[in-house]
Amino acid sequence: MATLEIHDLHVSVETGDSATGAREILKGVDLTVKQGETHAIMGPNGSGKSTLAYSLAGHPKYTITGGTVTLDGEDVLEMSVDERARAGVFLAMQYPVEVPGVSVSNFLRTSATAIRGEAPKLRTWVKEVKAAMEQLHMDPAFAERNVNEGFSGGEKKRHEILQLELLKPKIAILDETDSGLDVDALRIVSEGVNRVRESGEVGTLLITHYTRILRYIKPDFVHVFANGRIAESGGAELADQLEAEGYDKYVKGGA
Ligand code: ADP
Ligand code: MG
Ligand code: MG
Repeated sequence: MATLEIHDLHVSVETGDSATGAREILKGVDLTVKQGETHAIMGPNGSGKSTLAYSLAGHPKYTITGGTVTLDGEDVLEMSVDERARAGVFLAMQYPVEVPGVSVSNFLRTSATAIRGEAPKLRTWVKEVKAAMEQLHMDPAFAERNVNEGFSGGEKKRHEILQLELLKPKIAILDETDSGLDVDALRIVSEGVNRVRESGEVGTLLITHYTRILRYIKPDFVHVFANGRIAESGGAELADQLEAEGYDKYVKGGA
């Protein structure tokens, strides 16, 4: 069973303003995610949720200033972005980026090849992609479009879940995969996440601002994220409490 262990993680981001310099965003995050578990990370805007996601995936803009991240004891922070992906860490970004000139179909096959260490057999692969796209209610013509170019918000999120289903990571970090989705798209995307969960082989870090996705995806653990760290942890009932009370009590005087 794969285990991702985050201990006392501190992360700064370069603000681009010479007077301010680097700003500490993550201020000591502790979290353990095991394969088969679903953790919801819930917090107000600007609390550092995406910074956590990017830091785990190895985005160069974020500087780790303290703490450790390990996957089955291996130092994740020492790994390149590619090595992290090969080790089984997957990030669905809050704002997926365009990849001009690369079709969805090529992108998926290249990713799968990199992660599996060999190219998937073309015949079975084509079937696999087709089936996964059908389940996500995606038009087959989508496969020939360039990655995220001109995609609607909902199409971008479905494409993220398509990758998740095909790449079968050990740890999936889903950064606001629910944001901007209408009810139908939210259900389809959630069903995709649940299919992957049911395999029991993925540990999911479901980052969200709103509780509504938790009607479709039941977390085993809920963590309130505020001011760059986890302010409280509990079970699914904590999400109900947040729905009723909001984040106020965690934000006020919490710095
Ligand atoms: P969340 O995802 O919870 O909304 P973020 O991690 O996106 O929070 O942002 C946390 C804080 O860090 C915010 O104040 C944001 O402005 C700042 N921040 C994040 N990334 C950058 C960046 N690349 N450059 C400057 N500031 C950043
Ligand atoms: Mg935000
Ligand atoms: Mg964010």
